[in-house]
Amino acid sequence: MNDTEFIPIIGLEIHVQLKTASKLFCSCSTDEADPNSNVCEICLAYPGSMPSLNLEGVRKSIMAGIALNSHIADITSWDRKSYMYPDLFKGYQISQYDRPICYDGNVEFIVRSRKNYYSSDAYIKRIGIFRAHLEEDTAKSTHEGDFTYIDANKAGIPLLEIVTKPELYSVDEAVSFAKKVRDLMRWFDISECDMEKGHMRFDANISICVNNPNIKSKSYEEWEDILFTPIVEIKNLNSFGNLEAALEYEIKRQIEEYKQTGNLYSKGQKETRGFDADKGITYIQRKKEEANEYRYIPEPDIPYLEITQEDIDQIKSQMGITPLEAADSIRSDVPNISEYVIELILGERRLFDIYIDLKQETGLEPRKLINLITNELKPDLDLLIDQQDKLSDWLNQIIQVLIYFRDNKVSQNQLKIMFSKHQVGETDFEKLLSELKNDEVDIDLQSIVNTVVESNPSVVEQIKGGKESAKMFLVGQVMKITKGKADPNEIKSLIDKKINEI
Ligand SMILES: [Zn+2]
Repeated sequence: MNDTEFIPIIGLEIHVQLKTASKLFCSCSTDEADPNSNVCEICLAYPGSMPSLNLEGVRKSIMAGIALNSHIADITSWDRKSYMYPDLFKGYQISQYDRPICYDGNVEFIVRSRKNYYSSDAYIKRIGIFRAHLEEDTAKSTHEGDFTYIDANKAGIPLLEIVTKPELYSVDEAVSFAKKVRDLMRWFDISECDMEKGHMRFDANISICVNNPNIKSKSYEEWEDILFTPIVEIKNLNSFGNLEAALEYEIKRQIEEYKQTGNLYSKGQKETRGFDADKGITYIQRKKEEANEYRYIPEPDIPYLEITQEDIDQIKSQMGITPLEAADSIRSDVPNISEYVIELILGERRLFDIYIDLKQETGLEPRKLINLITNELKPDLDLLIDQQDKLSDWLNQIIQVLIYFRDNKVSQNQLKIMFSKHQVGETDFEKLLSELKNDEVDIDLQSIVNTVVESNPSVVEQIKGGKESAKMFLVGQVMKITKGKADPNEIKSLIDKKINEI
């Protein structure tokens, strides 16, 4: 069998940290702080303490469900997932078992080759989502030498676990999908998805289909008589790079193992592996517990939650434009715009909002405006996009500058000069603008006058002969070149000066 006929079958569990001010079952802050300072009797699991549900976590989960085209449960409930670990003080985690808040969804995304991102081989794929459930995070343990340090700040932070169907059939599909989820969560402000802060982590389930290269076009429900290698779950991948590297390694490893042993999946045959990012290899951790080994039991301290269609409609109405609708609106503003530019503008919801604001405030032609945003404005925007106060101040100044540009009082070249000066620390656009005008009148205007005078010798002869009205022809020529920016009286005196020198 040829290696290309082995098809990876990948399903992802994506843990997303929801952006809420307080934890899921207590009022402790979710902000970064010194270790063990955002804690209380509830998240430290003192006996007798009672959890109470943070509805903002529920609201963000419903938003995620809508973004993932999922059904939202009309009744959702919580369960205790029992296991022993030093960073799990209660001896169980409050999670959701048989009534997850979101279920049965799907996501459409563009699959791109990681090696050739903008190649024409990109294609659109739809993947099914089994469920997305809301649970609490555990504390964080750090191992150093003989010691293990526990920080409880993270204990109780809300996590949404999104579980896909095993319908990702290549590393490109898995990574493209994971990025799509990040983009959706950020777009709707559900999560910051800051990978470095651990806001998004992946568990990847992977095996290799050994008898059906055609599986690639099939959904999970359409699988028939397929044979595949034992399923491996790779735990706790904390970056797209690690997701990619772990999957690539595991695909090769499983194909090799199959070639040597011929082992195929049979029920219960499943193992958990970790990923060593330094060595680029996966390593065996344990044979996986089946779900019933967690001994899920209903959480008695948190009542069932009813979610009405009205609740869902209200949340939906607050979510605003979707990325697909935003892309369509850019396409209708600027026909034939490249997909690359659309992606650039849609990479950040705020960038798209800025485009819409600037379009309304400046009345600039959309193509010109997008061109400016992606070229001249992008370096400033990248710096300012997370600093709301500075950003609004900057935008107010930019609007005035862009209106000058729209009215041809500032050329594209001059804009470039202003923005590049601004990027090295000149913060006052008014000052930059007046400098530009002075420069132009002092230096450029005289040289324009000189050129006009020199290229119209017969007109100059008429003026010298006393025909004062002929001078207006030259003034008109200079006005035309400067697009009406210069003062006619000043032009006249510069013309006189030049003619006197001849
Ligand atoms: Zn607490």
